[in-house]
Amino acid sequence: MKFIIATNNQKKLVELERILNPLGIEAVSAKEAGVRLDEVDETGTTFLENAYLKADAAYKKTGMPAVADDSGICVDALGGRPGIFSARYCPETCHTDEQRTQKILEQLEGVPDDERGAHYTCAICCILPDGSRLEIEESCEGRIGYEFIGDGGFGYDPIFFFGDRTFAQLSAAEKDAVSHRGKALRRLKAALEQHFGKE
Ligand code: IMP
Repeated sequence: MKFIIATNNQKKLVELERILNPLGIEAVSAKEAGVRLDEVDETGTTFLENAYLKADAAYKKTGMPAVADDSGICVDALGGRPGIFSARYCPETCHTDEQRTQKILEQLEGVPDDERGAHYTCAICCILPDGSRLEIEESCEGRIGYEFIGDGGFGYDPIFFFGDRTFAQLSAAEKDAVSHRGKALRRLKAALEQHFGKE
């Protein structure tokens, strides 16, 4: 059986392949299936809605079961922003992950330690061969630091503290074990195993 992975992100594709292959599912990228995902407007107001919009577009265009995810960082002192706009935060002045991350540090200037809470969220929507939907959402709680620390990870990781280290200081395996995406992917695996009757 083939599943279309509704992402243009190579890293996400590889992570999903690792989970789907042992279940006898072949992961096909949007590009391989000839589906243009940049045409999908992320007009949802939640991570799950946007994950559904991407998965549904891929499912309708190809007729194949589809998986999509949507993720981002929510900062308490910013009323939950950037949230679903994490990949396109402050587009007038910020064009790179580094600029967006720096923007958050600036916006938190003067905010004390105990008000610097934040969490990452990852939502996954999977449309199964019979058209039914699996929806999963997971998060990871942390806090925002005062400067960039560490060179691993990506995006906002250098300012996101989990315990006494930033996500950018963790190895990939350490991050996977606690991250929003790691937790969501493990639940997806369990749900698919149950759906397809495997242990
Ligand atoms: P999307 O899910 O591909 O739309 O991307 C969401 C955006 O959220 C990314 O571009 C990052 O800026 C941010 N983000 C999501 N997960 C992580 C993470 O694990 N580390 C750092 N940034 C993340």
